[in-house]
Amino acid sequence: MKSFAVADDQFPKSNDKKVVDCSKSNAFPLFNTIFFAFFFSVISYLFVTFRQKIHTATPLYLTLSEMAAVVCFVASFVYFLGFFGMNFLQSMPFPDEEEDDELEETNAKEIIHSTNSAGCVTKISDQDFLTPLPKSTTAVELLTATTEDEEVIQAVVTGQTPSYSLESKLGDCKRAAFIRRQALERITGRSLEGLPLDGFNYESILGQCCEMPVGYVQIPVGIAGPLLLDGMEFSVPMATTEGCLVASTNRGCKAINASGGATSILLKDGMTRAPVVRFATAKRAAELKFFLEEPLNFQTLASVFNKSSRFGRLQTIRCAMAGKNLYMRFTCSTGDAMGMNMVSKGVQNVLDYLQSDFPDMDIIGISGNYCSDKKPAAVNWIEGRGKSVVCEAIIKEEVVKKVLKTDVASLVELNMLKNLTGSAMAGALGGFNAHASNIVSAVYLATGQDPAQNVESSHCITMMEAVNGGKDLHVSVTMPSIEVGTVGGGTQLASQSACLNLLGVKGANKVSPGSNARQLAKVVAGSVLAGELSLMSAIAAGQLVKSHMKYNRSNK
Ligand code: ADP
Repeated sequence: MKSFAVADDQFPKSNDKKVVDCSKSNAFPLFNTIFFAFFFSVISYLFVTFRQKIHTATPLYLTLSEMAAVVCFVASFVYFLGFFGMNFLQSMPFPDEEEDDELEETNAKEIIHSTNSAGCVTKISDQDFLTPLPKSTTAVELLTATTEDEEVIQAVVTGQTPSYSLESKLGDCKRAAFIRRQALERITGRSLEGLPLDGFNYESILGQCCEMPVGYVQIPVGIAGPLLLDGMEFSVPMATTEGCLVASTNRGCKAINASGGATSILLKDGMTRAPVVRFATAKRAAELKFFLEEPLNFQTLASVFNKSSRFGRLQTIRCAMAGKNLYMRFTCSTGDAMGMNMVSKGVQNVLDYLQSDFPDMDIIGISGNYCSDKKPAAVNWIEGRGKSVVCEAIIKEEVVKKVLKTDVASLVELNMLKNLTGSAMAGALGGFNAHASNIVSAVYLATGQDPAQNVESSHCITMMEAVNGGKDLHVSVTMPSIEVGTVGGGTQLASQSACLNLLGVKGANKVSPGSNARQLAKVVAGSVLAGELSLMSAIAAGQLVKSHMKYNRSNK
């Protein structure tokens, strides 16, 4: 007997989460009809014959045909007893070892077959298809869980159980998410239908990526490329819902490839954190500034800082004062990690150390915004943060014409008036480009980067110049603050990790720590170069609106 939990298209409701027997009456409608006909015909036949015998006082011996009718009656009776009786028995709340064993062996795929043939379930989620039922999950347990779920949901709704404590209380992250969303729907009176719950490993985000989950948002991933960068080909994953973006970046990659590829140079690699401390006087604050900037003190400070990690290595400390307040911008290398945690730990070590020499130092905050994280700030644009990369290519005249459908002179003029002069007129801060943030965000989402760091990571100046006697186009992007990592944060999640794997930069680089993250930063810059080329060409050729109408407003 195959039993299974009903799945309601990626969104099982607790009330629906009950055991449903793949009822034989549904499974074999033809058989049932035949047996029903049999059953009632033999009963009526026997009834009529015996009635007649009693009326005519004939002895009640069975004739051959009556014996056959009795056999048929018994057979159809046993059939119906087995059929409906088992359903009834199965709904009784006691365990059945044989059934458990069978359930353990039953994978979701088999269930779908029997389900479909039975017509019991019309919608089945991918997860149900892919994932076998857990070994320990029996029909009875699922039933019990439903009742238990209901109690916990009520406790959350009434405020008896805090929603945030569900994971630790239940010890089952998926169930916690399921219960939280049920409670949320009841509290708000609003449905979350459409936000999937199944198909995600909630254990993988616990204590690392997201608190109090109720599901996950799906973002399609498109592939641009291959991008020929430094002699290697990269297929660039982009998670976006903006039509045209992947297609456009892909066209840029095509133009770069057809011209021999792009080249990238990494100028700097260092993550920053800048605490703010206060003194009673500006004089005392300045004394600490001089102490920190004295080259003779650097080794001591570096060894204190570096204790926090195998990978964090102090590079510089740059100070800025505001009255009696001091901002100390620590920069350190962080291996393959984006590095915010690493640099913060190192800075804390140094602050603890400084406290003994400067006991009057009042630590106001480990971050004083001179870092500067996730905010537009000139310090990042000028000094850099994370990886500073320049990427360039020379696009041949015929490629500009054939692939980009424009000409070199138009591109150079547009770049000067839009990306340089136009941005200057707008008072831009690091925004001397057409749409670097489009590509940065899409690659960041696909590869598990912190999407909020798109703010400074998208700082970019795009330059275009006619070269080779005015025939070809030299194009470059300079991006001083690309903040990426291939370990930590969202990079370890299954989907994001798959995208990093596609780029060949998944996880920590064992041979040369930091190489994977640096390579990823170069790919980001190369992709931005492709995106800039294509969008600028579309604008120069007056095609922007037309292509957006084609890709963003599809009737389909
Ligand atoms: P972040 O500092 O970017 O927030 P995490 O602190 O979350 O990153 O992750 C970095 C962790 O990964 C550290 O504990 C570090 O020791 C470990 N790690 C392992 N290999 C590497 C590597 N090659 N580069 C950087 N960190 C690494």
